[in-house]
Amino acid sequence: MASQQALTKLELSGLRKIASGKVRDLFDVDDKTVLFVATDRTSAYDVVLENGVPGKGVILNLLSAHWFGVLTKAIPDLRTHLVSLSPPAGVLTPEEAELVRHRSMRVRRLEVFPLEAIVRGYIAGSAWNEYRAHGTAHGLQLPAGLRQCDRLPTPLYTPSTKAPAGQHDENISPARAAEIVGERYAARIEELALAVYGAAAAYAAERGIIIADTKFEFGLDKETDEVVLIDEVLTPDSSRFWPADKYEPGRDQESFDKQFIRNWLTREGLKGKEGVSMPDEIRTATSERYQEVFKLLTGKTVEETIKERE
Ligand code: ATP
Ligand code: MG
Repeated sequence: MASQQALTKLELSGLRKIASGKVRDLFDVDDKTVLFVATDRTSAYDVVLENGVPGKGVILNLLSAHWFGVLTKAIPDLRTHLVSLSPPAGVLTPEEAELVRHRSMRVRRLEVFPLEAIVRGYIAGSAWNEYRAHGTAHGLQLPAGLRQCDRLPTPLYTPSTKAPAGQHDENISPARAAEIVGERYAARIEELALAVYGAAAAYAAERGIIIADTKFEFGLDKETDEVVLIDEVLTPDSSRFWPADKYEPGRDQESFDKQFIRNWLTREGLKGKEGVSMPDEIRTATSERYQEVFKLLTGKTVEETIKERE
């Protein structure tokens, strides 16, 4: 997979691009659905790197699809944005259809709540930094004496704002989140985020993986007034995955996620800088880590999953 070219720019002749995030491009299909395409673009510290990780978009898309299946079985009243894993028929050239086949899904077009619904089972990253300084995480009081990467007494819903491009998300309290989206939706988002995290953490634990924390997004279906799980779910881009057999609180953990790229950027003094290209060994190592966690979580290699779909 590392020998492939990374797909970082994408245009589709038959579909209008309606939005482009750091990693994904969204294309108009009809009034109800959009084609949600994961490119190989790679961001760290909110900056998109110049070159991507070949095949990453495929891994993220197929892993999200796997989770949507697992989660809807585990949580019967969960609604997700997934409509179909096949690109719309008849509007793409054969080359375009081939390009997006495994890296895209057709999803319901929904109004996105301007929140990142983060759930933390363990204390790491920005929450650890806040706890160390103030004894809190997202303003929530935590017990004294926690060590770095300790398991929290119960999983914590710790939202952040969804910052516009180029700006950083800001950690906020659940109370502030309720001011932003309204009490009723805030309560439903929190309930669903915790339920999804709980189901996913149990599933991953059986496969030797700790989901230290993860980020969900939710959208509103205005016709039914339902809060729907959208975006990517439980991927190494949106989550901290730790190998359970190497877990040891009191230090940084080895992880299956972008920590690898973040560590390299920090080491090289490139953190937060624009126009940075990753050397091949960092791209290959990241791709290998992503493929490894894909296999652990789904029980199949990425190649096997692709073959099954063909
Ligand atoms: P990051 O994930 O690193 O924060 P990003 O927010 O720029 O980056 P991408 O993953 O590149 O996100 O792009 C996905 C975009 O699509 C996000 O803005 C997300 O809110 C939006 N989105 C996800 N699902 C839907 C949906 N069903 N309908 C409309 N927009 C959606
Ligand atoms: Mg995203």
